[in-house]
Amino acid sequence: MSNITRFEAGPVQNWDSWSFKHPLLSKPAPGKLFLGEKLGLDGMEVSLNTLPPGRGVPFYHRHRRHEELYLVLAGEGEFQVDGERFEVREGSAIRIAPAGVRTWRNIGETPLVYVVIQATQGSLEQQGIEDGEVVDAQVRW
Ligand code: ZN
Repeated sequence: MSNITRFEAGPVQNWDSWSFKHPLLSKPAPGKLFLGEKLGLDGMEVSLNTLPPGRGVPFYHRHRRHEELYLVLAGEGEFQVDGERFEVREGSAIRIAPAGVRTWRNIGETPLVYVVIQATQGSLEQQGIEDGEVVDAQVRW
């Protein structure tokens, strides 16, 4: 059995062709793709996202057990978490605890492009490189 699963998301400018059906939305929302099912992830969920200028998530949400990491790859946005507002941009990394009531919007002139990683809060057993181990083999290409 292979230790690899792969998926090619393609160019970011095409990410708005994806659509995601959320139970709270009357029509599918564009620009969100979950990788968990495509890759067989079972320790985290990851989504690739693009939100056009002038758009925002039209509801608040929180999580039962998952912390979320939002990694902003491009654009400018504004988050609201537990009533606190702050701006984000390319390079921003935002961790939100499960109970944080959140929403966000694009406040720039270009798409807000971001990755969301969900993992069960408290499940990480090591940080940094501690889980890795060097394999005794000469690297060859
Ligand atoms: Zn979430």
